[in-house]
Amino acid sequence: MKVPFLVIGGGLSGLAAAIRVARFNPSVLLLEKHSRLGGLNSYFYRNKTLYETGLHAITNYAGPRDKKAPLNRLLRQLKLQRNDFTFCEQYHSEVVFMGCTSLRFSNDFNLFQSEISGKFPQTGDKLQKLLVFLGNYDPFVPMPFTSAKKFLLQILGDKLLADMILCPLMYYGSSQENDMDLSQFAIMFRAIYQEGMFRPLGTIKDVLDLLVAHLQTLGGETRTSCGVEKIVHHQGTAIGVQLSSGEEIECDYLLSTIGRDETMRLLDKTAATPMTGYGRLGFVETIYQVPEIEATHLACDKTIIFYNDGERFLYKNPEGLVDFASGVICFPGNFQGLERKDLREIRSTHLANYALWKALSANAEQYTAEKERTSRRSGRCLENIIGDFTTNIVYKNSFTPLTIERYTSKIGGAIYGNPTKTKDGTIGFNNLFLAGTDQGFLGIIGSMLSGVSIVNQHILPRL
Ligand SMILES: Cc1cc2nc3c(=O)[nH]c(=O)nc-3n(C[C@H](O)[C@H](O)[C@H](O)COP(=O)(O)OP(=O)(O)OC[C@H]3O[C@@H](n4cnc5c(N)ncnc54)[C@H](O)[C@@H]3O)c2cc1C
Repeated sequence: MKVPFLVIGGGLSGLAAAIRVARFNPSVLLLEKHSRLGGLNSYFYRNKTLYETGLHAITNYAGPRDKKAPLNRLLRQLKLQRNDFTFCEQYHSEVVFMGCTSLRFSNDFNLFQSEISGKFPQTGDKLQKLLVFLGNYDPFVPMPFTSAKKFLLQILGDKLLADMILCPLMYYGSSQENDMDLSQFAIMFRAIYQEGMFRPLGTIKDVLDLLVAHLQTLGGETRTSCGVEKIVHHQGTAIGVQLSSGEEIECDYLLSTIGRDETMRLLDKTAATPMTGYGRLGFVETIYQVPEIEATHLACDKTIIFYNDGERFLYKNPEGLVDFASGVICFPGNFQGLERKDLREIRSTHLANYALWKALSANAEQYTAEKERTSRRSGRCLENIIGDFTTNIVYKNSFTPLTIERYTSKIGGAIYGNPTKTKDGTIGFNNLFLAGTDQGFLGIIGSMLSGVSIVNQHILPRL
């Protein structure tokens, strides 16, 4: 079998890339290892109820008239209509550094600015200087790594404020320990603070179904439960792939969205190319559900809370299984226009150590017991911030970095992949390119833009 254009990976970057190509050439086949599409942002069923795996909030909110905004550009590139979706904006979110102060932000950037000038009056016009810098800065021009942390400290002159600004940006988009590249900082600052957050009215399944239907209308195809075992190549050209079933598919162009080292493994190049990027970051997340009538006191006006209870904010691979000193608390039901359900969902996210969870998994009982302990301890941490809820939990489910590894094949279960990004999407082949998490744009909008931009840059000019 031969297909001109193959995509490996049915996450959001792979789907976006396949749609973008199919607009110009319908002979696109997307191969996904898992039985369901969506990758990190997928869904599962328990007790006949659908749960989203990873949707806290989508960044980069923009109104319909802001034609240049990344969200609207993405929709145009994919030929999707904005009114195919109903977007629900966040209420407001908050960065809470316990024992210090808090900063609220919403989709109106004025709120964040007034919180900073009210709570950090000594910064004077420094925030304005930062905004002027970001307004003139092009994060897409290739540059060597520049520490956003050092830059922020320099421009703001306040460690606490720098850490508070960085906390949400790191949790939602840094693959690096305790820092992020200035270009990634600029992208995330705009995505989270200047544009803001939203979610679709339905579930991620509705979004994925819509994307697949759109791809099929354009002539493209998807195949699930279809893992690529090997990329067949000769002298710098990818010839095709071999599936775990043994089937071989030839292609003219191949786009991999599964990660850089994960792709190298399929090329059998791991020996020649050492695994890059130490300090891959893992996370644990717990979903709690409590009856709505018991939840009326729980931060009903907030969508997401990013907290730190440590002396300094540390965003790094923890020494223990989990670092409870900081984390994210998400209320997926707290968006404008969503109806209250009978059950309120609360999600907690913390940094977690993959290697320790991996060692523990040799003993299934211990692993399960530790997951239970983690969800209890996380619940208690959350209660210090949002109020009591753990006595009313009716459903609970946790994942560890091993869960991520199992369902998405990400090395180290690292949601944000390799700390070293391959920004130009090339890995030494003339017809094989990299898109998605390891190309450099992170999150839902970021990974979709990555799929589109790599196709625009490397594939469309040759079609
Ligand atoms: C718990 C959690 C919460 C998150 N919350 C948010 C959020 O609120 N907002 C936000 O913007 N982002 C969020 N993210 C991040 C966001 O989901 C990801 O950045 C984005 O979905 C990455 O998409 P991707 O296509 O690059 O990678 P992936 O989603 O990892 O897709 C890669 C796909 O490749 C498949 N694959 C791997 N190996 C093979 C193979 N050999 N053959 C075939 N297929 C293969 C995998 O199964 C996977 O489906 C969250 C992620 C998680 C896990």
